[in-house]
Amino acid sequence: MTVQHLLLVVPGAPGAAAHLVEADAQHPQLSVLDVAATRGDGIFETLSTGRGHAQALQAHLDRFARSARMLDLPAPDLAVWRDAVLALAQRLADHDEAWVKIVLSRGIETPGVAALPTGWAYGTVSPDFRRERTEGVDVVLLDRGLRSDVSDTSPWLLAGAKTLSYAVNRAAVREAQRRGADDVVFVSSDGLLLEGPTSSLVIRRGDELATPPDALGILPGTTQVDLFAAADQWGLRTVVEPLTPDDLRAADAAWLVSSVRHAAPLRSVDGAALPVDAPLSAAMNGFLRARTA
Ligand code: PLP
Repeated sequence: MTVQHLLLVVPGAPGAAAHLVEADAQHPQLSVLDVAATRGDGIFETLSTGRGHAQALQAHLDRFARSARMLDLPAPDLAVWRDAVLALAQRLADHDEAWVKIVLSRGIETPGVAALPTGWAYGTVSPDFRRERTEGVDVVLLDRGLRSDVSDTSPWLLAGAKTLSYAVNRAAVREAQRRGADDVVFVSSDGLLLEGPTSSLVIRRGDELATPPDALGILPGTTQVDLFAAADQWGLRTVVEPLTPDDLRAADAAWLVSSVRHAAPLRSVDGAALPVDAPLSAAMNGFLRARTA
């Protein structure tokens, strides 16, 4: 049977704290009127846990609060969400690699009645990503159709918020698969590299790691930030700057990095081979897996 745990995060009455309620992940818990289901109107975070520790928890909670602000959702009570993640991490403590997803929806849509947010935290064991982390993934470049200044011109498009509306990201991966690849690097309509559908892009040029800036309308990646903070130990400098497809094609190595799969080296871009830096990939993944905070 799948190991899975669920905690509902029940909002308090006005002025009172939210609280956690144990629930059965095998049974339906969500109303058909919840806008999480009907409109994808809500936010989420997914983070890794290992042997009872949650990785980059504060960064994920901060980003959860940031996404809530971008969607004009009520500010989540981060102490309660932290408790939820840590409780699930404990329940999954027998496992080297597990993940927890926290979700905050705008709630149940009833005409004339202010919606009360719905929240939950779900945890289960991670898939085996050894192949992706060592052999790498084939990617295609796909136009996201948004300009790199979309955050300034059109904040209502919520570029860079972690919303529940991931249908486009899933469609992009299916397009990659139709083209014989595994994953995607999005490009802005004005030709700048952005991110993967569920990951940040990191490239290596000599002794430098580079990644595109969040200001281009991409999600600020917690994994990328942790890797850049650790880069010193691998003798690498770091830079955050706009990058082009030519930068990627000319890179000495590149990765899509994310909280659960960790660092997946890119072995080809649009069918053209890219060098896989096996020792650095292993070092990055060892470092990411060993994080206890
Ligand atoms: N960009 C997008 C669109 C994502 O969905 C994700 C993670 O799911 C990331 C980047 C990487 O973020 P993190 O490293 O915090 O998992």
